[in-house]
Amino acid sequence: MEIQRLIPFPILFDITDNLGETLKKALFDNFPGRERLLLVSDNNGAKRYGEYLEKILSPEGVLFMRGGTISDVMHLEATIKEKEPDMLIGIGGGRILDTVKMAGFRTYVPFILVPTSLSHDGIISPVAVIDFGKEVKSVGAIAPNGVIVDINIIKEAPSLLKLAGCGDLVSNLSALEDWKLASKYKGEKIDYFAYMLSKTGAKNIILSEHEAFSEDFLKDLAEGLAASGLSMIIAGNSRPASGAEHLISHALDRITDRKNPHGIQVGIATIFTQTLRGKDTQKIINFFKKIGFPLTPMDIGIDKKTFMEAVKLAPSTRKGRFTILDIKNNPMNWEKAFEVYLKLEERNT
Ligand SMILES: [Zn+2]
Repeated sequence: MEIQRLIPFPILFDITDNLGETLKKALFDNFPGRERLLLVSDNNGAKRYGEYLEKILSPEGVLFMRGGTISDVMHLEATIKEKEPDMLIGIGGGRILDTVKMAGFRTYVPFILVPTSLSHDGIISPVAVIDFGKEVKSVGAIAPNGVIVDINIIKEAPSLLKLAGCGDLVSNLSALEDWKLASKYKGEKIDYFAYMLSKTGAKNIILSEHEAFSEDFLKDLAEGLAASGLSMIIAGNSRPASGAEHLISHALDRITDRKNPHGIQVGIATIFTQTLRGKDTQKIINFFKKIGFPLTPMDIGIDKKTFMEAVKLAPSTRKGRFTILDIKNNPMNWEKAFEVYLKLEERNT
């Protein structure tokens, strides 16, 4: 019987204001001898950061792409075969990072990720979201070998993405409640290390004393998202950071035109799921107001009917993930919870 466990964990996590220097030092200190670099970067908004790294690192190969689809993953794998790099550096948004994660995992080439926004907790997680054409799926990959966050780059990201990062982190509070329910009703085992890290990640941003989106606030966000990602590495799945609120967001992606960032949808759904549980949502609402986070589905162009449809559809988006939506005798029914949710918002304005 196993009495300890070995978990593939990143060697490096760093928050810097000088990406070039930090990355060069990290390569030298943490990955000595790895000199055949393949740089993968955004061919769109964040392209300038890729071009900057190209100058600094003089990599063996450079690939600019949109990223995020299975054909992007295969294109990257073909380039890996051709160039035979011993290290991948991915710089960009979630689509690029997930493409690198997936291709790195499948080709056994280690990789460092440099996110250009902090919009979700996938920056460190072992999970990649890939578009397979018919369906967008979260697939198991492997955690990055290193992650470097440059606060100067993150500062420049669109406000909506920064808000989304906060929403994804706050949603851990709902996900953890669902984990407890799954333990109570289904005997699912709670890994307390993962539980603790996920909760700490959420608290790191909710309790941040810094002015919203100041550099110090963004550091708290980066640390929180890192803790959340590590909780998923420890658990070996997304359970500590994804519950009913994530399922509602997946359902919204299916029935709407997928215009709202993931983190915005899960943040809003968190107020609903926590209300449904009879939990006090005051702290979350206060935090959302402090940062200017949308408070209701209507604030992001989703009417009540569509939201309730998503709630109904939610459990089917991920079979086997037991949540509050599987329980019939909740403190209040879904309709009632939605009414109370709207009243909470009024009361606190
Ligand atoms: Zn998420």
